[in-house]
Amino acid sequence: MFQCCLSVPLSVSTMSPSQKPVVFLDRDGTLNVESGYIRDLNDLQLIDGAADAVRKLNSSGIAAVLITNQTGAARGYYSEDHIRNLNAKLVKLLKDQQAFLDDVYYCPHLPDGTVEQYTQTCDCRKPAPGLVEQAYNEHPELDRTRSFVVGDKATDVELASNCGAKSILVETGYGKQVQAGEYQWKVTPDYQTDSIVEAVEWILNSLKSS
Ligand SMILES: [Mg+2]
Ligand SMILES: [Zn+2]
Repeated sequence: MFQCCLSVPLSVSTMSPSQKPVVFLDRDGTLNVESGYIRDLNDLQLIDGAADAVRKLNSSGIAAVLITNQTGAARGYYSEDHIRNLNAKLVKLLKDQQAFLDDVYYCPHLPDGTVEQYTQTCDCRKPAPGLVEQAYNEHPELDRTRSFVVGDKATDVELASNCGAKSILVETGYGKQVQAGEYQWKVTPDYQTDSIVEAVEWILNSLKSS
């Protein structure tokens, strides 16, 4: 994905490598409204303020990378193409509001899935850090020492500890149920807040003071 850049172009050979902080964003319940397995693309809707929050990361020189577990294909609900279409829809809804993701990664696997192709124990299903490591390999500009995970599940918070990032649990999606002990398990994130809007404010502040 490319976005327009207003700065004066520098020739690659004279540029010193510069690294940017990175926020690994969950999808369902963090960027878009949690509504189970989304079969109709029209049912994918952004959470209020999510595009503004991503745009704020963009304008602050912070990478925004989507990391998502998507088991709909492994459960036989829809094809892997549909997962890609959902991700593309999300990217389009963000782009409509001038907000951009630096990259998108998804894990389609499930150890106890019903579709053989996706039924496996992998190293990329959150909280395993496989997709985050792939992002670091493919994007040398990402600064591992200034990294964050924003998500609504205990597995997002665990992903953060598994890849050395700071964790922010949002109370949209399953966040409240997680901390009420009604879903997955309770966790101790570095920060817990209402939504991605406040999460990004906290990230910006903590980068300023670091
Ligand atoms: Mg989620
Ligand atoms: Zn996987």
